Amino acid sequence: MKRLAVYCGSSMGADPAFADTARALGGEMARRGIGLVYGGGRLGLMGVVADAVLEAGGEAHGVIPQALTDLEVAHRGLTELHVVTTMHERKAKMTELTDAFVALPGGIGTLDELFEAWTWNALGYHAKPFCLLNVHGFWDRMIGFLDDVTGSGFMSPARRGQLLVADGIDAAIDMLDAAAQAGERKMVW
Ligand code: AMP
Repeated sequence: MKRLAVYCGSSMGADPAFADTARALGGEMARRGIGLVYGGGRLGLMGVVADAVLEAGGEAHGVIPQALTDLEVAHRGLTELHVVTTMHERKAKMTELTDAFVALPGGIGTLDELFEAWTWNALGYHAKPFCLLNVHGFWDRMIGFLDDVTGSGFMSPARRGQLLVADGIDAAIDMLDAAAQAGERKMVW
């Protein structure tokens, strides 16, 4: 895995463990030579992970829509900053640049990005794996809900099984690394 897209909040969140994890993830990615792909802003966990990658000597590639360059305070110290026009372009570009996705705690932007990575994979548009980094059980209730969606007959166990979950940074990177190598584009029903 050469690059990893990190989806996470443009806020810090209420638990300091969220920022600690974002910082540690950035450092570990740089140590392993894995480039960061992310939303290009300086705010919240997004800024924390980018700064950590850069401070540890790694590469950080940002993708931000023009309209958000002020609002999300575009990071001007990145290896590369792609300024795009729409949110759709942003996600398409991030998908093109990365080999896999990891979701840290975040809000609707993070959820939107995670579910798009999943649905596009499930439909065979790409074979890039995605993983929840479950900091202090942040994702537990969503994971439970997704089990309910499967139990209610709206998602097959095969699709449900695509969502990887890791409690720690090393586990998340190792899981994604293995899945990215094994990945093949296919429709998963
Ligand atoms: P949040 O998790 O809501 O703090 O947002 C995290 C990141 O997702 C921010 O950079 C948002 O601008 C971004 N975002 C929000 N909605 C979308 C969307 N529809 N497509 C792409 N990125 C989005």
